[in-house]
Amino acid sequence: ASKKGGKNRFSFFAPSMEESIRQRLQLEKMLQQAVMNREFFLHYQPRVDTASGRIIGLEALLRWTPDGHPPISPDQFVPILEETGGIEEIGEWILETVCRTARAWQQMGLPSVRVWVNISGKQFQDKYLFEKIEKILAVTGLSPRYLGLELTESVLMQDVEVHIAKLKQLKQLGVMISLDDFGTGYSSLSYLKRFPIDEIKIDRSFVNGLLTDENDTAIVRTILAMAQSLGLRVVAEGVETPGQRDFLTEQHCDEMQGYLFSKPVPPNRLSTC
Ligand code: C2E
Ligand code: MG
Ligand code: MG
Ligand code: MG
Repeated sequence: ASKKGGKNRFSFFAPSMEESIRQRLQLEKMLQQAVMNREFFLHYQPRVDTASGRIIGLEALLRWTPDGHPPISPDQFVPILEETGGIEEIGEWILETVCRTARAWQQMGLPSVRVWVNISGKQFQDKYLFEKIEKILAVTGLSPRYLGLELTESVLMQDVEVHIAKLKQLKQLGVMISLDDFGTGYSSLSYLKRFPIDEIKIDRSFVNGLLTDENDTAIVRTILAMAQSLGLRVVAEGVETPGQRDFLTEQHCDEMQGYLFSKPVPPNRLSTC
C-alpha cells in the first residue's frame, strides 16, 4: 500500500496474496492452452496383489509438464480443470487413452490387468458418463471387466440417490468401482453399505503413519475389519516401507500400491516389466 512506485497506487491485498492470485490466473491461462493443445500424458502405477505379490492392476495418473516449467501436480491442476470445465474434455481423453492402451497391451500378449481411472466430481455428474464409457469400451474393444473407476467419498456424497443409480448401471456393465482416499471424507457407514462399490482404498495419510502413529495404526485396523465384514476388498495406497507392507499383509489387506513396489511410470516402462 504505497503511493510511490507508479502504477501501484493502492493495494487491498498483502503482496503474498496478490502474488498468489496472479499465479492462479496464469495457471488458469496455461491450463486452457494445455487443454487445447492436449499437453497431458499418463503414468501408470502398479497395484500389487498381497497374496501372490503379482501386479493385478494399474492406476492411471494424469501428468502435465508445461513448456519450460517443472511438472505440476494433478492435486493442483485437476481442481482448476474442474472449475473451468476443462475436465470434461480431458476426462474423456483419459478414459479413451487408458482403455486403448490397455487393449494394446493385451494384444501384445501381456498379462491382462485391470486399469483404474480417477473420476472427478464434475465428470461423475455428467449425465452421459455411462453412455460415454460404454462407447469408449466398444470403440477400443476393451472388456468392461478390465476397467475400474476410482471415486472419492465427497463425490459420491452429493446427489446420493442419483449416484447410486449410476453406480448400479456401471456395475451391471461390469466395470469395477473403488472408493478412493477412504477415511478423509465424511461418508457414513450406512451409505457405505448402500453404495454398490467393490473396494475401498485406504488413504495414504493413514498408511504413512502405520506402526509409528498409534492412531493411524488403529484407524487402518478398523477400516480393514469393517471392510472385511461388509465384504469389500481393501487396497492400501502409499505403501513405502517393508514394515507397512508386512503389517498390511498380516491384516489381510487385499492389494497394495506405493513407492515400495513402484512409482507411477510411463506406459512404455510397463510393457517391458
Ligand atoms: P489419488 O487418486 O489418491 O492418487 C494417489 C497419489 O499418491 C498419486 O499422486 C500417486 O502418485 C501418489 N502415490 C502413490 N504411491 C505413493 C507413495 O508410496 N508415496 C507417496 N508420497 N505418494 C504416492 P498424483 O499422481 O500426484 O495424483 C494426486 C491426485 O490427483 C490423485 O490422488 C487424484 O485425486 C488426482 N488425479 C490424478 N490423476 C487424475 C486423473 O486422471 N483424473 C482425475 N480426475 N484426477 C486425477
Ligand atoms: Mg486414485
Ligand atoms: Mg487415493
Ligand atoms: Mg488422493
